[in-house]
Amino acid sequence: MGEKVEQFKAYMARPLDLHMAAAVLDWDQEVYMPEEGINARAELLATLNTLAHELETADEVRYLLEAAEAEVAGMDYESDDASLIRVARRDYDQQTKIPAELVARESRATSKAFVAWRKAREEKNFTKFQPHLQEIVDINREKAGCLGYKEHPYDALLNLFETGVTTAQVESLFNELKAGLVPLLQEIAARPPVDDTFLVERTYAEDRQWELTLLVLRDMGYNFKRGRQDKAPHPFTTNFSSTDVRVTTRLSPTLPQAGLLGSVHEGGHALYEQGIPEKFNRTSLGGGATLGLHESQSRLWENQVALSRPFWTYYFPIMRAFFPDALHDISFDRFYRAINKVQPSFIRVEADEVTYNMHIFARFELEKDLLTGDLKVADVPEAWNAKYESYLGITPPDDAQGCLQDIHWSHGTIGYFPTYTLGTAISAQLYAGALQDIPDLEAGFTRAEFTPLLDWMRSKVHVHGRKFTAPELLRRELGQNISARPLLDYMRKKYTTLYEL
Ligand code: ZN
Repeated sequence: MGEKVEQFKAYMARPLDLHMAAAVLDWDQEVYMPEEGINARAELLATLNTLAHELETADEVRYLLEAAEAEVAGMDYESDDASLIRVARRDYDQQTKIPAELVARESRATSKAFVAWRKAREEKNFTKFQPHLQEIVDINREKAGCLGYKEHPYDALLNLFETGVTTAQVESLFNELKAGLVPLLQEIAARPPVDDTFLVERTYAEDRQWELTLLVLRDMGYNFKRGRQDKAPHPFTTNFSSTDVRVTTRLSPTLPQAGLLGSVHEGGHALYEQGIPEKFNRTSLGGGATLGLHESQSRLWENQVALSRPFWTYYFPIMRAFFPDALHDISFDRFYRAINKVQPSFIRVEADEVTYNMHIFARFELEKDLLTGDLKVADVPEAWNAKYESYLGITPPDDAQGCLQDIHWSHGTIGYFPTYTLGTAISAQLYAGALQDIPDLEAGFTRAEFTPLLDWMRSKVHVHGRKFTAPELLRRELGQNISARPLLDYMRKKYTTLYEL
């Protein structure tokens, strides 16, 4: 490794350490912190984040970066050094293109917006949030201007979360998905409804659910010597290095599959982080590459694995032994159909596999129009309800179950939602690739053997850390662009059998 790259790495380790320290405090805030610790914690976090930002955007970084760039010029694109400097340059440019004044303004606006959003949602009243959303849209428009874009202001924001993917590409992927999913949903809706009352109306002891989540995480290959699970109101995964990756879950006495699938989802994120080579820790290559790739890992374990027939062939008898009162009179088939029930619903995070992406189509189209001004902030509730009527055939009864349901806008993030569907499409592409390489993959699931799948993901995805964008990684490992086809094929096959279409 070159001397200049070494110097750059040594410098950058300090702000990265500060980010990790802030992440520990964030984790504690969500999981253990007593209520009244919030103000002191906010000060602490602000200090750490400001220090990190100052170090990352200092003139010294530019000099070190330029020197390192000269050193890696001509090196293999995929080499660790060239990749590290390429990714660091992208991070640096993104961080320095937005003026400090705008960052500060955004931070103040989102603090207030978050409080207003929570209150507006409680009162089911969008107008309370409206001026804050207006400010956030204005700031994001300004941000897009600072970052720069060729075709659409949305490109600049999307690029923050999914580097290398354009708005036009998302549009074309979404159109292809719509063309397959809308008719699939119509065919399912024409079939007799699935009975899932035993999931909704019976109770499942939370301590047993907790045990089950730990059992499944262990079986998936989650390393508890390098992680732990806790309870949190909004489940998430966080990491402070690839050797300390933590997950959280939320359990409820009914719908026992929800907590389990939540744990499996976060477990998928965590397996990715635990799989990043240790040599990338404390460097710009540490961590998962993009939000779409991250979501591809979580959704693959949640959907393709934990909602599959082979998976439940192994776990249903265990589940029944855990909850004999609730499940003694339920057959495997009834259970399997119930946890895969398809039904249009208002809340994205509770949606089934088939309708989930429609929630994302709606948000993506609204965000795009907000940014260009084609949609006025005041008209968001009406536009939102119209999208739900057109995609899902249902109209939210109030704003809490409509446009106020998600936290993202109050955090100031616009351009994030498409990564959920990009990740879902990528999960199907990767899964199809794994199936092709490992023909008896799913037979293994019936014995809780997940190592072949995990090893495949380790060697194709995790091993690269942040080296490649999602399109680069898919081309390198599968020879494909991001595509809707594998997801549509998977859905069509699964639900044709389930609903006897
Ligand atoms: Zn996720």
